[in-house]
Amino acid sequence: MGFDIHILGTSSARPTGLRQVSGSLVVCDDGVAIVDAGEGFQSRFAVQRRRMKQFSDSQIKVGRVDVLCLTHGHLDHTWGVLPWLHTLSLDKRDKPLLVIGPTSGEVLDSLLSNSKLPEGISNSDLIIQWRSWHQLGGTSKQLGFPVRWVLGDIENDRWVELLPDSNSVLELEKMPQPKGWSENKIKPLATNHTVPSCGWHFSSKGKKGKFDRLRAAELKLTETQRAGLAKGEDQTLADGKMLSASEFRGPDSGVLSVVLSGDTSEMSKGITSMENCNVLVHESTFLEEWSEHAKNYLHSTASGAARTALSSGAKHLVLTHFGARIKGTEDMLSQAKQQLVDSQVALSAASDGDRIQVSDSGKITHHYWGEEGWFN
Ligand SMILES: [Zn+2]
Ligand SMILES: [Zn+2]
Repeated sequence: MGFDIHILGTSSARPTGLRQVSGSLVVCDDGVAIVDAGEGFQSRFAVQRRRMKQFSDSQIKVGRVDVLCLTHGHLDHTWGVLPWLHTLSLDKRDKPLLVIGPTSGEVLDSLLSNSKLPEGISNSDLIIQWRSWHQLGGTSKQLGFPVRWVLGDIENDRWVELLPDSNSVLELEKMPQPKGWSENKIKPLATNHTVPSCGWHFSSKGKKGKFDRLRAAELKLTETQRAGLAKGEDQTLADGKMLSASEFRGPDSGVLSVVLSGDTSEMSKGITSMENCNVLVHESTFLEEWSEHAKNYLHSTASGAARTALSSGAKHLVLTHFGARIKGTEDMLSQAKQQLVDSQVALSAASDGDRIQVSDSGKITHHYWGEEGWFN
């Protein structure tokens, strides 16, 4: 199926009349990932599931959610997590859930040496929130289903798991993947914000091309010959003719990838170091007139998001996370477009409820939400 990204909130910092705060879903064959869950997340998630039921031929089952990826600890990205976990508990979830997000190397050191958190740590660091959530019932024991709490120092690829039920921590050799995922992978990308932060990269291995059954039937091949060709083994027929397995498969679908930036200044290292990606959903808090603000608060302008997309080899840039001053997105789009004018990068702006679909063959469609369903 490729990927289906659902953007449930497109406002930065606080909800406005038109937009809610951050929270997205990435649906793939292996399951569902949630990227950030700001205030009111679970209501928006429930509404989106109802919309899917009514207007789409696929559904999103809560039981398919395997991982919650946080981009950073600002409350507009995290305040909805604990209430949602409590709902999962009330719904008697038993499947494991991975919760994963960034912190600093100093925090990891202090956790591993069982000492005090570093001086001057931001109140919004995930470690502070996670500890308070654990006190408020957010542990496997109290929720009744296994939750893995994994914090990472993204740039140095170091990972620690918090074990709140035993009040201990565990250093991990590598970042865990969502349980049971085999075709798709998650990876953090270093970003640049006022607290430890990362974007999340989702990639799928790509699928084998279709087996040419018709040709196999025309040649009256035996079951064993067909099975051999399907597995990629060349076959020799009774008359000595060789059949090459590669001629019986259509082209493989390539590797697909999508990225959700979270909050970041433009041109963050993790994102620009990619060689390509199908879709980059990038924050675009400010218009160019406010570029000083973007620099000071480590956010991006629409044109900065576009410059980042150019450097990351993205095929399609989706703008999101708009400041409260932004009503329509026309100006955002026109400023981003100016940067992309000589490129092939497609551009769109997200509203709450939109879906961006990437098919197995790499076709990208932005489905805009309207009260009567999605339209393109
Ligand atoms: Zn934000
Ligand atoms: Zn932020």
